[in-house]
Amino acid sequence: MKQSQLLIPTLREAPADAEAVSHKLMLRAGLIRQLASGVYTYLPLGFRVLKKVQEIVREEMDRAGAQELLMPAMQPAELWKESGRYDVYGPELVRLKDRHDREFALGPTHEEVITSLVADEISSYRQLPLTLYQIQTKFRDERRPRFGLLRGREFLMKDAYSFGRSWEELDETYRAMYEAYTRIFTRVGLDFRAVQADAGAIGGEGETHEFMALAEIGEDTIVVSENGTYAANLEKAEMFWEPPAGSGEEAPPMNRVHTPGAHSIDQLREHFGLEASAFIKTMLYLVDDRPVAVVVRGDREVNETKVQNALGGERIELADDAAVRRLTGAEVGFAGPAGLEGVKVLVDREAAAMPSAIAGANETDYHVENVKPDRDFAADLVGDYRNAAEGDLSPDGSGPLKFYRGIEVGHVFKLGTKYSEKLGAAYLDDSGRRRTAIMGCYGIGISRILSAVVEQNYDENGIRWPEEIAPAAVHIVPASAKDAAQMELALELYERFRAAGVDVLLDDRDERAGVKFKDADLLGIPHRIVVGREAAEKRVEFKKRSDADKETLTADEAFDRIAKRN
Ligand code: ATP
Ligand code: MG
Repeated sequence: MKQSQLLIPTLREAPADAEAVSHKLMLRAGLIRQLASGVYTYLPLGFRVLKKVQEIVREEMDRAGAQELLMPAMQPAELWKESGRYDVYGPELVRLKDRHDREFALGPTHEEVITSLVADEISSYRQLPLTLYQIQTKFRDERRPRFGLLRGREFLMKDAYSFGRSWEELDETYRAMYEAYTRIFTRVGLDFRAVQADAGAIGGEGETHEFMALAEIGEDTIVVSENGTYAANLEKAEMFWEPPAGSGEEAPPMNRVHTPGAHSIDQLREHFGLEASAFIKTMLYLVDDRPVAVVVRGDREVNETKVQNALGGERIELADDAAVRRLTGAEVGFAGPAGLEGVKVLVDREAAAMPSAIAGANETDYHVENVKPDRDFAADLVGDYRNAAEGDLSPDGSGPLKFYRGIEVGHVFKLGTKYSEKLGAAYLDDSGRRRTAIMGCYGIGISRILSAVVEQNYDENGIRWPEEIAPAAVHIVPASAKDAAQMELALELYERFRAAGVDVLLDDRDERAGVKFKDADLLGIPHRIVVGREAAEKRVEFKKRSDADKETLTADEAFDRIAKRN
């Protein structure tokens, strides 16, 4: 590749609306361009990286025994109605009509299409187990497309689906996929953790793991024990729990206290001069439109996923101000479990074990002291309804929990029969009985990986691509295109690399050396060979993008460093 002929529109400054480092750098390095919010073009260098990631994913999927196919993005709405997801999926599903007014969706995922295919094509136990995958463009009209390729509305995904005859067979495939994912994310150069995730209403009994690239910009919080044996998404994370001594102690009777304007835990701490853990927080929700109060200790956060799972609900939303007024008879910030009527009350086990606490009075500007769980209010359910907190002990006894931010780059999921039942993916077993196939699904955000890798690999001058997915292995930069000896040696090396099958980029542009070096740092190709003043002596300067050190080598040595690496 000769830079003079390639479309690499580098920018000195990133557009103002790019917030994430990876987004800025990918725009500046001329890898991507935005067409519409969350919709991007991959320019030639960006496309090279995308293809390298795809190749790694393909190799590992094939190695794990999965077969590649390609399904349509355009999917009849009937299929989505059959699975029951046409309405549930909501506005994220891109819907359209054809000229005959027939409804279609642009696939955000392909459970429906693959399951109906398997329903049609598979009939005997002899044809199973089967794992099929594709690498394909997905469409999701995300509420907040942002951070470049991290959250797009049109993006590239690898999605795989397995069909088996038993849960044991699913366990095996799941393990094989998990291992393939581990190899993939290692090969693309990511620092990642596989974490337990919430299977939620969709999954039921299904086990599920998310693969998280560690990065501050990540939208997920992951919870990891000190020695790493326990790792979970905050949504799912549990904590060691033992009821404290003394929860049964007597408490004086409840006492109403005037707390004007104190509607947050911080304001209450100030008012009473007490720690947040002396209070209980009462949060009001609507779960499938039914009012629910969730009570946690004042220093804790409600875990909405745990609440939803406890109630088996499909949708959970925080009650708005009007609903709070209607349910409590007070302004927001004064809700409490004592005297609250017509609302289901879920009490976190830690709050339930408090000897007494200060809670809202369900009256504007008032709180109540000495509220004693059980004595002063009844819980409909007691359980784990709070987020884990840093310092909580791991449920598996492996020490205190620490928090990290993560970008979800992959997801493996035991689906069971949710789709196969609805869409009729069944087979005849060896005694001729009809059985429903047991499914798993496995996704990787191919385009998201590019951003995640950049989030983990950059410095103030630009990107530092890991070798396996870099747009090229080596960047040859003659300091002056006008210097015949330099250009001659640069071209000679370039041809040698090409002949040896090494991905090479030659900066043959007639630009000042400073401009070329800046661009080279920005593009982040892992090895750089600068052909400068010593070109006539066949000596060059060799540098790794990740190191500050430069070495002077003969052209032959520099060639060998690259061609004979590993
Ligand atoms: P998220 O919680 O980030 O929205 P998800 O749970 O909706 O992700 P899945 O449905 O499991 O994601 O999709 C499989 C993979 O596709 C994800 O692990 C992620 O890497 C990728 N992905 C999902 N949504 C997007 C998006 N909007 N842009 C880019 N990649 C995405
Ligand atoms: Mg999503």
